[in-house]
Amino acid sequence: MKKTVLEIDLNALEHNFNVISSKLKPSTKFMAVVKAGGYGSDSVEIAKKLESIGVDYFAVAFTSEGIDLRKAGIKTPILVLLPQVESIKNIINYNLEASLYSIYFLENFVDYVNKKEIKKCFCHFKINTGLNRVGFSEYQINDAIEKIKKCKPIKLAGIYSHLAATDDLNETKFTNSQINLFKKISSEIKSQISYKPILHMSNTSGIFNYPDCEFDMVRAGIGLYGYNNYLNKELLPVHSLKSVIAQIIHCNKGDSVGYNRSFFCKEDTKIAVIPIGHADGISRSFSKNIHIMIGDKKAEVVGDICMDVLMVNITGINCDEGDKVTFFDSKFNAEDFAKSVGSISYEILTNLSKRIERKIIEL
Ligand SMILES: *Cc1c(COP(=O)(O)O)cnc(C)c1O
Repeated sequence: MKKTVLEIDLNALEHNFNVISSKLKPSTKFMAVVKAGGYGSDSVEIAKKLESIGVDYFAVAFTSEGIDLRKAGIKTPILVLLPQVESIKNIINYNLEASLYSIYFLENFVDYVNKKEIKKCFCHFKINTGLNRVGFSEYQINDAIEKIKKCKPIKLAGIYSHLAATDDLNETKFTNSQINLFKKISSEIKSQISYKPILHMSNTSGIFNYPDCEFDMVRAGIGLYGYNNYLNKELLPVHSLKSVIAQIIHCNKGDSVGYNRSFFCKEDTKIAVIPIGHADGISRSFSKNIHIMIGDKKAEVVGDICMDVLMVNITGINCDEGDKVTFFDSKFNAEDFAKSVGSISYEILTNLSKRIERKIIEL
């Protein structure tokens, strides 16, 4: 395709799902995290594929993301990790499962359920065990559970927490203290209710580094898309970002390239113009640090990255207008790309703008 495309490899996704599943006990459920558009890919396509191969649950960050999946026909349960009070009505209407994480949100949720006489709704109870991001802290648990017990329609489908440092093996002591606190609080809660919520805690690197943290379900995000610090070799990258040489410009020694004349040609220089820029998620701050691949040749970005285009030095590289170029793929992957600019794959992938066409690859 002679334009910028983000290829999404559903076979790689399936492979990653199978690799992660193979690490789990057969009874452990699999929640696929498809927030932020499936980590910048295409949440609907990702969810459809995973639903077809037997995933148990989805998680999204916000209600609107869950609605997108429901509108696309996804039937699997969907946890909304960070629902806002404004969206309670949609949570109920679209049969999504709210995370209950603060007294403020819980009180509003209970009010809505009572006012609208909702018959039954499944929720997940979020415990803050030390990340100090979202969730009930230990001193709030009793109050929160009392409120939930008084509101009969609310059923806890799950009790969960989130780990802070699963990919830092210097922090095993801290991580184990989080796991132990979760065990303690969740068993106290379970002893107060007559049914059995699903306990879940591990994200991708938790699955690989803390096997005793499986509980009843795991929540895998980045691993499904092919990344995990300790396991890149087993997983396959799902995203490949490709573009095309829109134009070739011949510059003379001493010419400048781009806005603010931030690059001067030290010799006669061939410049290729690539139609992708900071509006697409290739941040202007990457200007001095990234290269692209043209075949097996590396071409450095020169000058400041513009909104819609960037320029690369192709002096000495045999290529033409219309030729394909690659930012990252399964060889030089998004994590390698991220490292070159001091970021992480999560951020690079989720910043890829809607403007880039997603092309689904499935053999
Ligand atoms: C994003 C997120 C995950 C997924 O984490 P990965 O590291 O991508 O596997 C799991 N749980 C919560 C609460 C999250 O916000």
